[in-house]
Amino acid sequence: MTASTGRPVYMDHNATTPTLPGVFEAMRPYFIEEFGNASSSTHSYGRRAGEAVSEARRQVANLIGADPDEIAFTSGATESDNLAIRGVATCAPPTRGMRRGAGHVITCAIEHEAVLETAAALGNEGWTVTVLPVDRDGLVDPDDVARAITERTVLVSVMLANNEVGTIEPIAEIGAICRRRGILLHTDAVQAAGRIPVDVTRLQVDMMSITAHKMYGPKGVGALYVRKGVVVSPLFHGGGQERKVRSGTLNVPGIVGFGKASEIALSDMETESARQLKLRDRLWQRITAEIEGVTLNGHPARRLPNNLNVAFEGVESEGLLMALRDVAALSSGSACASGSQKGSYVIAALTAGGRETGRARSSIRFGFGRSNEEPHIDLVMEHLPRAVLRLRAMAPRQAGSSANR
Ligand code: PLP
Repeated sequence: MTASTGRPVYMDHNATTPTLPGVFEAMRPYFIEEFGNASSSTHSYGRRAGEAVSEARRQVANLIGADPDEIAFTSGATESDNLAIRGVATCAPPTRGMRRGAGHVITCAIEHEAVLETAAALGNEGWTVTVLPVDRDGLVDPDDVARAITERTVLVSVMLANNEVGTIEPIAEIGAICRRRGILLHTDAVQAAGRIPVDVTRLQVDMMSITAHKMYGPKGVGALYVRKGVVVSPLFHGGGQERKVRSGTLNVPGIVGFGKASEIALSDMETESARQLKLRDRLWQRITAEIEGVTLNGHPARRLPNNLNVAFEGVESEGLLMALRDVAALSSGSACASGSQKGSYVIAALTAGGRETGRARSSIRFGFGRSNEEPHIDLVMEHLPRAVLRLRAMAPRQAGSSANR
């Protein structure tokens, strides 16, 4: 059996999710009849588009406990992350009395590339960048953040939940430290929003990146929450839309879809996350019962309800993905980094200094979503143990490996 569609079962919901039919239906009129420019309030076409954007802004804000005025729509979380980090960095010298290029940014080793590469680009422009390590479970230590802060620190950027291993970071604790020290805190909440309760006030964050396509909305639309009073310089110069933070004609259908997806995510969160957590735990129980030499990547408890990331000792993840490709659509890590043969930098960071050097290249991510049901677990487990055994038998025996049996 494969999925009833004849296609492999989709279990890669941390990479992206399908657009829900209800979301698509909400978007549809804004492509054709209601095509007005949301910034043109002089006629009814523009006004109606503007009203739809306002409603979506309210829905998105509601998902994260923000005020609608604190939401700036973007093209996705890559842009939101860039806007948050660069936007603050560009503002920093005049607002904090520093000379240009003299600031300091703190982030962590398992951030998405949208954060790491933006920070690295600032580093090339003369900024000091501290990339904090994580522990074996992928957690950032808030004390490390406190110790890394200097008088030149302008921004801390630590993600709320990791996209590969699902670890949920102690953002409220980091937020409290940043508030006390007068440092801005940005969090990439792409994987958390819509899956677990997220509240910008409780977390004490100043900026938060989110994106629609990880929560059953369309691709190419995201948002940056910017707390009132925080000044962010725009990346683009133009018509001054989105309170001058993000110029460009608004993607009205996408924004409407993002709003609808946020509303649905919030209303279904409790039941959906409990259901997916059960599936995830069932798969993990069966994997540990039926396959030797497996390790859970990420925190055992502080993790996203839909994410299971497993290292299969002595197995190359790319080979395992190939062996299972007709059964289930899985991934070996960040979808955005696909094509990389180097293994996961996230898992390498979890095992840094340890002896499990192969783990970064032997790990598979199972990302559960709305479409997954119990028979999908049975289907995966019909094929996975045999595939692992076969690949281990083919692989050259590794020194110290106990799993090559
Ligand atoms: N941040 C995280 C944690 C992600 O998982 C992703 C997507 O994989 C992104 C940022 C990028 O989001 P987008 O695809 O909306 O640019």
